[in-house]
Amino acid sequence: SAATTDPDCLFCSIVAGRVPADVAGESEYSLAFRDVNPQAPTHVLVVPRRHVANAGELAEVSADELGDVVLLARTVAEQEDLGGDYRLVFNTGEGAGQSVFHAHLHLLGGRSMKWPPG
Ligand code: 5GP
Ligand code: ZN
Repeated sequence: SAATTDPDCLFCSIVAGRVPADVAGESEYSLAFRDVNPQAPTHVLVVPRRHVANAGELAEVSADELGDVVLLARTVAEQEDLGGDYRLVFNTGEGAGQSVFHAHLHLLGGRSMKWPPG
């Protein structure tokens, strides 16, 4: 689809500034903001400004935009002083825990973590 925004999408509304968020970083194609229900001392969501439903669709639209999400996550991780220890996660599909269907990369850090995550 040619549309790059969905007026009914929560994260599109945050990107557009219609819904407030605690912004942690910005780049050309991406926005980073703090999760309202943090699962770690640092829990930031990095989203493409373009509306795509999940990571699979993000990979499809543009390698530049996908790369930009990862680069902004690293920039925020460096600003958060995590000592290089952090986790990046795309939950893709309801069965994997996705609840907001605008692609978002979770940046989690500031505590020890188990693997596998469960
Ligand atoms: P998912 O479960 O789709 O991987 O992650 C969605 C995340 O969005 C959850 O961690 C949830 O806490 C967060 N979230 C849901 N609604 C809002 C909101 O209105 N603002 C912010 N900042 N985060 C939200
Ligand atoms: Zn959206």
